[in-house]
Amino acid sequence: MEPAELERWRAAGRIAAEARELGAREAKPGVGRRELADRIEAYIRSRGAEPAFPSNISRNEEAAHFTPDPEDAVTLEEGDLVKIDVGAHLDGALADTAMTVEVGGGKRYENLVRAAVEGLEAGIAEVRAGVPVDRISRAIEGAVHRYGLKPVRNLTGHSIERYLLHAGKSIPNVAGMSAETLDEGEIIAIEPFATNGVGEIRNGPFGNILRFRRDPGPEAAELRPYFERFRTLPFALRYIPEAAGREKVRRARKYLQSYPVFVESGEGYVAQAEHTVRVLRDGAEVLTRRPGPP
Ligand code: MN
Ligand code: MN
Repeated sequence: MEPAELERWRAAGRIAAEARELGAREAKPGVGRRELADRIEAYIRSRGAEPAFPSNISRNEEAAHFTPDPEDAVTLEEGDLVKIDVGAHLDGALADTAMTVEVGGGKRYENLVRAAVEGLEAGIAEVRAGVPVDRISRAIEGAVHRYGLKPVRNLTGHSIERYLLHAGKSIPNVAGMSAETLDEGEIIAIEPFATNGVGEIRNGPFGNILRFRRDPGPEAAELRPYFERFRTLPFALRYIPEAAGREKVRRARKYLQSYPVFVESGEGYVAQAEHTVRVLRDGAEVLTRRPGPP
């Protein structure tokens, strides 16, 4: 990777990390989900980046893929277990990172939060070029099991390429699922989910995240500006300020893919932790570490 290109990935990582911390700080009782998502994305834009995908504000037994729609009026409540999963990109250089907070600062779900964080750190500790992906998966699974909890087996981390959030290689959260190895210079997201449920998610209701399946082309010229803007990256109707534009996109079903919310199959609570990592010859460069004094 060219030095300037690498700097873009690093900068996207810093911005995403700052946005994640901001989201976690502001996830307080009484704050609207929509307000929180908007603030995170406004922060990303204020730093000169774009959201890589709509901020996921999934709660409790929702594991992932919920983002508020423009009319959302739900506010966070004391005791909600909230996953703040955010992404930033600079000219397609992407960062994807998540953390879990218990709204109101209680400690009821501390074991879930810790299991996800320790799973993530255990996974990162295995990263270097040539290592089987299964070593990472095994480390994650072991760390989560030590808390008497389960990793979610059908959600995985993933390789990332320019403008491609899920570039093809999966990083499972349980052992025995991958025969691949890590390549030097590769960018991956590692994202363990820990649950007190059955360790699996199912598709729930529509989660308000959209993506263009294909270029609408001349037959739907009114959609072109939106396609130009979002390309292959997921987006939300919240990004479109004008009501008429939202209506156009809402009606354009055949060009769009929509994502369901992932809900834990046993209605268990779910915690998630995620970092974007660059694979080095002899280790890992974590691009989304918590910013702050050295
Ligand atoms: Mn991810
Ligand atoms: Mn994520």
